[in-house]
Amino acid sequence: MDKKEIKKRIDRLKKLIEKHRDLYHTYDRSEISDAAFDTLKNELEELENKYPDLITPDSPTQKVGGRPLKKFGKIVHKNPMLSLNDAFSEEEMKKWEEKMENYLKDKVKGGFYAELKMDGLAVELIYKNGILEKGVTRGDGKIGEDITDNLKTIKDIPLKIEKDRKINKEELLVRGEVYMTKAEFERVNKEQEKNGWKTYANPRNVAAGSLRQLDPKITASRKLSFYAYGFGEDIGLENHKEEHEFLRKIGFPVEENDEEVKDLSEAIKFRNKWEKKREKLSYEVDGVVIRVNRNDIFERLGFVGKAPRGGIAYKFSPKEATTKVKNIRVQIGRTGILTPVADLKPVEVAGVIITHATLHNFDEIKRLGVKIGDTVVVSRAGDVIPKITNVLKELREGKEKEFKMPNVCPVDGSKVEKDGVYFKCSNKKCGARHREELQHFVARGAFDLRGLGPKIIDRFLDEGMIADAADIFLLKQGDIEILEGFGKKSADNIISEIAEKKEITLPRFLYALSIPQVGEETAHVIAEQLARKLKIEREKLKVNDILREMQKFSLEELQEIKDVGPKVAKDVYDWFQEKNNEELLKKLEKNGVEIKAEKKEINLKLEGKIFVLTGGLEKMSREEAKEKIRKLGGDVSESVSKKTDYVVIGKEAGSKKEKAKELGVKMIREEEFLEMLK
Ligand SMILES: [Zn+2]
Repeated sequence: MDKKEIKKRIDRLKKLIEKHRDLYHTYDRSEISDAAFDTLKNELEELENKYPDLITPDSPTQKVGGRPLKKFGKIVHKNPMLSLNDAFSEEEMKKWEEKMENYLKDKVKGGFYAELKMDGLAVELIYKNGILEKGVTRGDGKIGEDITDNLKTIKDIPLKIEKDRKINKEELLVRGEVYMTKAEFERVNKEQEKNGWKTYANPRNVAAGSLRQLDPKITASRKLSFYAYGFGEDIGLENHKEEHEFLRKIGFPVEENDEEVKDLSEAIKFRNKWEKKREKLSYEVDGVVIRVNRNDIFERLGFVGKAPRGGIAYKFSPKEATTKVKNIRVQIGRTGILTPVADLKPVEVAGVIITHATLHNFDEIKRLGVKIGDTVVVSRAGDVIPKITNVLKELREGKEKEFKMPNVCPVDGSKVEKDGVYFKCSNKKCGARHREELQHFVARGAFDLRGLGPKIIDRFLDEGMIADAADIFLLKQGDIEILEGFGKKSADNIISEIAEKKEITLPRFLYALSIPQVGEETAHVIAEQLARKLKIEREKLKVNDILREMQKFSLEELQEIKDVGPKVAKDVYDWFQEKNNEELLKKLEKNGVEIKAEKKEINLKLEGKIFVLTGGLEKMSREEAKEKIRKLGGDVSESVSKKTDYVVIGKEAGSKKEKAKELGVKMIREEEFLEMLK
């Protein structure tokens, strides 16, 4: 993007962020999740950091909160209710500590206090002589709304607090979070549904909506909860831990998983632990709050901009993020149904990198209105695969392209037919055969990708992760990790296996392609002919070289290759002339597949000798035996003929042994054979 385009993007982002911020803060509505909102804000912040001259005073990054609504009375906070700065990575946490140390010219003594960050609404409760007098929203941080009557309906909020001998203040400002439990949220939404009303997007939305009802009875009909987390001013305690203890003592509920942590690495551990356990909590949390424990140091650290320097919200990886649709391609299912899949600019969602999302069918594309080049919201809950939930049309640049369902099948070029909401390849065998070919591609003798069994290939196809063999080499750990039944480790294993097997010998490569009638033996003889033609001396060959040379072979030339009959030659010839196959080979090259030259050992003592193997060998597999023979210059044939030099007799040798006797071909046992290989 050039500067002009960047400015355009910034302007669009600002407008969109303003719109959602206004909806959220002023009308308690949200059309996109907080996480998606955050990624938009982050993108804006990043652009502004890179181009500070493009920051304007009206940028959403320069403001907090929303405007108070007119319907409630206004109350000025004694001390502003500020929000914390966010951190999204360990690196940002380390920077935060560094900044504090630079400011203090010292280490942060006394450790930190860690607590879960409730996903609710911050309020301030004003107690006069132990009696709840006022309850106020955060509002814009300086001025909030008087929602006392509504807050009084919440059971967790004490109307009267116990007297304490040590700390006996006439006025006590208690701050905390009003939230709704997941169970209550479900109950409310079920009721909404039953009444035919709109359901809510998340518990916080309902909590916010309920709190700001003009009629407290409505608030009371929804069970809201409250956790206290601090005070609106210094009450003379030494550290934040004592403040939490004091809150509990005088009768406030405090989130019970709070913990004193001795240093930053402990704080990070605390966050990572709860990121994994968050689903098990009965309420939504979107991160943890880490605060300098000692109050004197916290005070000394003061403020940076609008946020206290001594505290930070270390957020969990968002379950939603925004990213761009790079391309929409189609993928064929077992029954021949074509499924559009969106290739995404890699983005982190719920802790893993996502690179694509299935779009299910053509109607889904129409419903979302998604185009190639669009900025979209991708979301993922729990172990579910990612999906596009929203298209941010406001961010369009005019270069976006409509997706068109292809007229012909991307796999075999057959005509595409419409079948209800689905599009199908008119060749009924296409889908199933495509699967078999992919399974063959990764099997032993071919690419030999261990850990990628037929079931996994099926799964990857179903999830839209791969459409053809070449896509396998683009898989990312995150794509696999998020599938149920896979973890970080198994994903990691698959990815490193794929990376390792990107280099393949020519015969194996030809065998992997599922060319009709080309089994391992035929692949070998063709490879040899090709190697001679190409004079393979180089360490590595390009897939494109193979393609070019194979296309140069005439039908007659192919027929001349030893053991290749006219039928096989025709199939091979046709395969390499087919456009889809040509594209697949080009894609394999592009995705990093390389042909390594099989280094023939200098010792070619079996040169020209033809072997036939029969029965089971004890010391090695049949595959290994074939490979060893070839390495020493020998050849392996499937059937015994007069040309055969040796028949290796293994355990339970079959009819080949009889044939060898009949023709008088030399038979050797395994021990003799092993001796020959030495
Ligand atoms: Zn097809």
